[in-house]
Amino acid sequence: MLIVQKFGGSSVANAERIRNVAGIIAESFLYGNDVVVVLSAQGDTTDDLLEKAAEINPDPSKRELDMLLATGEQQSIALMAMCLEGMGLPVVSLTGWQVGIRTDAHYGIARIRRVDTERLRRELDKKRIVLVAGFQGVNKFDDYTTLGRGGSDTTAVALAAALHADRCQIFTDVEGVYTADPRKVPGARKLEEITYDEMLELASMGAQVLMNRSVQLAKRYGVELEVLSSLVRAPGTKVKEVTRNMEEMKITGIAKDDKVARVTVRKVADRPGSAFRILNAVSKAGINVDMIIQAASQGEANDISFVVAQADAETARKAVADRQAAIGFESVAVDTAIAKVSVVGAGMMSSVGIASLVFEALNDEHINIQMINASEVKLSCVIDAASADRAVAAIHRKFFES
Ligand code: ASP
Ligand code: MG
Repeated sequence: MLIVQKFGGSSVANAERIRNVAGIIAESFLYGNDVVVVLSAQGDTTDDLLEKAAEINPDPSKRELDMLLATGEQQSIALMAMCLEGMGLPVVSLTGWQVGIRTDAHYGIARIRRVDTERLRRELDKKRIVLVAGFQGVNKFDDYTTLGRGGSDTTAVALAAALHADRCQIFTDVEGVYTADPRKVPGARKLEEITYDEMLELASMGAQVLMNRSVQLAKRYGVELEVLSSLVRAPGTKVKEVTRNMEEMKITGIAKDDKVARVTVRKVADRPGSAFRILNAVSKAGINVDMIIQAASQGEANDISFVVAQADAETARKAVADRQAAIGFESVAVDTAIAKVSVVGAGMMSSVGIASLVFEALNDEHINIQMINASEVKLSCVIDAASADRAVAAIHRKFFES
């Protein structure tokens, strides 16, 4: 069997953790498998490197930043190789350049274009464990690029797809994907399986288990993923197209995102084109908008609100404010004290009553809903940030604990 295994930064944070992971790799290899391993930078290395860069130049070029960041993962593969060597195992470490992970030209957020498999195959044919630096590739100028934070997941999926691997295991510091954040909700359960679409919704809503793009890639190439812990030996969560329980399970999980903000535009002229002009200003500023609501038309003017990432809120407000005359409104304000709580489930649309159960849970807790948004796989409510954890726990009780 050909197995791709990815270990995140916390799994290789120090010498002891490296030895632990080496044990997992060795076991897979000694079972007779071909093993390709993708590693992240140790612990907070990537953040530390970013800080170092900022000390030297607050605004470095993206090319040089990638040159620096790529070194984090190279440390990990070299150290892991030394550890496996010490155990008497055949191993070779390879950078993104040595493998031939070709990306587009966008430093810092590069996308993988192509993965050469020749070198990988050659090393596997020599019966070596192959360690690959995650998060990095090479662009058409033969410069290092990085894939965006958390990008090693994407490296692993891309290698699994290119090699037609039999398994792709993502080892992390949690045991899998849960029905809610287990640190906050004691009754949260580990899921055996989850669909790609559900995982995408949960990932983009702050259930930080897998990088979103890696799940998109896995879905596109049909790479089945297994998320599991490098510290606890237990079956993890499988991420795949269709899950066994889809029919019976009403919802799969609940997530909270408190890194959002609401922009409210008051007394917008009630005429064709107002919403367009507002959202156009925001989109021209390169900002993604999540939920949009407009109060029922009242004849002259009404309020329009939308949700953006907290980091984008001020830019969005300014983009709208700058066009006040053209759009026609009274004022625009940002509220950062909000959170988005969402329930996710592939079977959502086919079972009635989910929304009502969610609203009932919030009502039980006297939590006011400010905005609502529903799609085929999720239902989101915007509430005040201070109530978010209580809301998640209450909804979780309704669906999973009664
Ligand atoms: N080291 C990179 C980061 O911290 C990539 C990764 O961990 O996947 O974002
Ligand atoms: Mg990391």
